[in-house]
Amino acid sequence: IVKYKNVYKSFGDVNVLKGINLNISPSEKVALIGPSGSGKTTIIRMLMTLEQPTSGTIEVNGHNLWKMERNGKQVDANESHLRKIRGDIGMVFQHFNLFPHMTILENCMAAPIHVQKESKESAKQRSIEMLEKVGLGDKTDLYPSQLSGGQKQRVAMARALVMRPKIMLFDEVTSALDPELVGEVLEVIRDLAKEGEMAMILVTHEMDFARDIADRVLFLNEGVIEAEGPPEEILINPESERLQSFLSRFT
Ligand code: ATP
Repeated sequence: IVKYKNVYKSFGDVNVLKGINLNISPSEKVALIGPSGSGKTTIIRMLMTLEQPTSGTIEVNGHNLWKMERNGKQVDANESHLRKIRGDIGMVFQHFNLFPHMTILENCMAAPIHVQKESKESAKQRSIEMLEKVGLGDKTDLYPSQLSGGQKQRVAMARALVMRPKIMLFDEVTSALDPELVGEVLEVIRDLAKEGEMAMILVTHEMDFARDIADRVLFLNEGVIEAEGPPEEILINPESERLQSFLSRFT
């Protein structure tokens, strides 16, 4: 469902990604680990079309993110092409990015109504369903400021799920939370992973969590995928010395 082909990304003189090749199949759960600054966030921001690769291509569902076909020719993608692709992708950030002046129900309803032009009634119904799914069915009329960090993060997930994404991206969603709130957020992701339908890419420093839910773990170091494989191989018996040294910080 996602295909990175020889993707490079630089910011000015800084080469952040140096030839990423990655295929993710529908419903696959991929954990992305690696030191700070290795390029993890950049990889997923590109998928959300928030950054454009310097070279190489990224495909979602067989569609090139930055190119489209017009009259039999490949031309630069326009905003409607990008919007269509983004429609299949949900993203949850480290900071929750909720609208402070809207209730949590309104936060969830905004995109289906304004982006997908859905009726208010059906957007509301699905938003309530998703808020129930993340355990916040009784909080629909509260404002973000009235919630804990863990609850806000669960709203952010419900808001992404309302759009029925085929791919969910989680960028260090627990790293801004107090330790006692991390569990409830991971639990919701674990449940989503168990349902199994969506592809998921998770940037995380929670190694136990990655081991539990990932089908595949990628170790990114200095802009290259230095090791990849099933969690047992990467997290329990790593061959690479750099990976061993990285993992030793978490034990
Ligand atoms: P962390 O775990 O700290 O979030 P990361 O592996 O997610 O790190 P990225 O956020 O992808 O790393 O950043 C990789 C490098 O790219 C960093 O050196 C960062 O400073 C640089 N970088 C990222 N975005 C930009 C930008 N918009 N402009 C300039 N440099 C950037």
